[in-house]
Amino acid sequence: MQNRILILTNDPAEANALKELLGKFINGPFEVEWLTRLDAGIIRLHEGNIDAIIVDLLLEDSSGIDTFDQLQAAAPHTPIITLNEAEDEALALEASLRGAQAHLSKGHFAGSLVPQTLRSIIQRKSVEEAFYTEKARAEIALNSISDAVICTDISGNIDYLNIAAENITGWSREEARGHPVNEVFKIVDGISHKPPAQNPVHLVLKNNEPTSLNAGTLLIRRDGTQVSIEDSTSPIHDWNGKLTGVVIVFHDVSVAQAMAKKMAYSAQHDFLTDLPNRALLNDRISQAITLAKRHGKQLAVLFLDLDNFKHINDSLGHATGDKLLQSVTQRLRHCVRSSDTVSRQGGDEFVILLTESKFAVDATFIADKIITELTLPHSIGASELHITTSIGISIYPEDGEDADSLVKNADTAMYHAKANGRNNYQFFSNEMNVRAVERQFIETHLRVALENQEFILYYQPKTNLTTGEITGAEALLRWDHPEWGIVMPQRFISVAEDCGLIVAIGNWALREACLQVKKWQDLGLSTITIAVNISAIEFRQNSFVQRVRTALMETGLSPKYLQLEITESVLMHDAATSVAILNELKSMGVQLAMDDFGTGYSSLSYLKQFPIDVLKIDQSFVHDIRSATDKGIIVSAVVGMANSLELSVVAEGVENHTQLTFLKKLKCKEGQGYFFSQPVIAEQFSSLLKMDITPWRCNFSEKTPSILFSNKIFNLDRGNINEHH
Ligand code: C2E
Ligand code: MG
Ligand code: MG
Repeated sequence: MQNRILILTNDPAEANALKELLGKFINGPFEVEWLTRLDAGIIRLHEGNIDAIIVDLLLEDSSGIDTFDQLQAAAPHTPIITLNEAEDEALALEASLRGAQAHLSKGHFAGSLVPQTLRSIIQRKSVEEAFYTEKARAEIALNSISDAVICTDISGNIDYLNIAAENITGWSREEARGHPVNEVFKIVDGISHKPPAQNPVHLVLKNNEPTSLNAGTLLIRRDGTQVSIEDSTSPIHDWNGKLTGVVIVFHDVSVAQAMAKKMAYSAQHDFLTDLPNRALLNDRISQAITLAKRHGKQLAVLFLDLDNFKHINDSLGHATGDKLLQSVTQRLRHCVRSSDTVSRQGGDEFVILLTESKFAVDATFIADKIITELTLPHSIGASELHITTSIGISIYPEDGEDADSLVKNADTAMYHAKANGRNNYQFFSNEMNVRAVERQFIETHLRVALENQEFILYYQPKTNLTTGEITGAEALLRWDHPEWGIVMPQRFISVAEDCGLIVAIGNWALREACLQVKKWQDLGLSTITIAVNISAIEFRQNSFVQRVRTALMETGLSPKYLQLEITESVLMHDAATSVAILNELKSMGVQLAMDDFGTGYSSLSYLKQFPIDVLKIDQSFVHDIRSATDKGIIVSAVVGMANSLELSVVAEGVENHTQLTFLKKLKCKEGQGYFFSQPVIAEQFSSLLKMDITPWRCNFSEKTPSILFSNKIFNLDRGNINEHH
């Protein structure tokens, strides 16, 4: 590559001599430009592309060291060689002190020495420049990264900090330089707060190998505050591979750590109540089991489900529901020791782990306390809300050896508490588990039963107790399972209610019953009413009234022949809504019966509000009648009350003549029970309807019951899934 040289001298002989010398240099000639004035030279330098300057410090417009200074200012990175009188050594020295690369004595240019020197000066300068550019680039890079970088020398004294390191340590580079690394990079263990046995820098200097800090290390800044850091420390080697120092690269992890902590917390806690969630509870139970095993102790798991919470949520809104859950949380926390865990499983379900419980008595004590505390009114906004809870309890190790089975069994026991009238607690027993498995089994089979047309309706007559005539029929559901045979409703109705299938099944039963009675009417067999049982779940469905209307319309049955049987407890739960639904049904023209009357604690005032046509006295009261002279106080009271409200009364479960006689005396008008007939299939019921005189008429005055079709039906009724699978 050709180099361009600017010669500044007002001595033409000198200039020509140089030109000649440089022009024929064997390694490629130099391009030479000659100017005589400093100002022209400076202008030329500004244009660029000059690789070296040879200057006679005595020019037309400038002289002495000032000429040198001006040139250097104009081209600071261009090498300058001065041209002096041989005797003017002082000036040459002055220039070289200020950065002149070499000097030539006028008239003494020796052969190829000048061009060679010039070339090597130019080369050295460009290497230097490249080096500086690289260094500057490295410096900029180090200062622009967010990681802090500290370098030390071979003795572990600081010789470099980038800006991030200055910010994080609180030391400036200048202040830190030369200080032992321990003073600037002061670290302690996050837990013990003690400095490490050896600063990582010393470790690297000793082992000549990279290392990194333990997780959780804290850096103590210059002002004494602390920050969590993560680092890696590595040796620095020179060209020959010799260890010359150490570099520490580290960064602040406090934010990341705080974030990770927060995320770990929310993964284990419930956002609404801040209670441990299912995952954390399971962990705690597992830990508690390990400890209990070691110390031979017991644990208790309490599974709580608030009673009728859904109703509060639906009627008062989710915001109120949420506040109530928070209030419940406070009460629950209050009821247990700090070593116990209250967790929320979701919805209105809570699980409490009682550690250190020596006896089941502890659990009883806490369960009692919870039931009492929760019952006290909860002030939510302006209103006071009331809530109760049902609790299931399982005990380690009797009821399960791991977290899952303890929670599952407590859950099962909770269902029993619900079935037991809510607002109480139940301990788990193995028998419950068998039932839970059975329920699961039934649910699986129920899901296909409707599609496979496995349901049938049986019909049981209702009888006029004076004349013995059939006054109506109650449709009773049976499940004719291909393997198990006939399955009775007690076995599957509540399962169907729990999994929601009851709506489809109930709808089928309603249509089927309407269809059957319409058929009997069309055959001219009867004008009796058909009573269909309605489950709580169906009754509360928004679409229920419409579904009844559709069933009547599609089957063509007149509404007055349909009687809906709804149990007393269903109607009593949220009586106001019940009244509204009943009124709608009533206005459609269907009849309404209150089933299992006497078991749901109706008050007379409610009875008056319900637009009911019929009261069905629960079997249990009829069973209590033992002799014709029995006082049968309840039955008497109920019949009396019904008569005074002008409702018709049907006595359920009439099994013998004594009961019949007693009921007749009370002027109870209708009865239903095995004494007259078992529930029978449609064809058999048709035969009954076709008879002029019902078979039981002749027995009205005898003491032995006469049961129509009894053997056959009885076998069917004993269909029991336990026997069949
Ligand atoms: P429920 O409505 O009170 O029906 C009367 C129950 O008493 C029937 O039991 C019937 O077979 C039985 N029974 C009748 N006479 C006597 C008697 O003299 N002695 C005794 N010990 N029992 C008698 P079943 O058919 O097992 O039905 C049980 C319950 O299942 C019904 O009680 C009703 O609540 C429910 N159920 C039946 N069919 C349906 C339905 O289609 N839908 C709904 N949701 N529930 C139904
Ligand atoms: Mg009924
Ligand atoms: Mg009943």
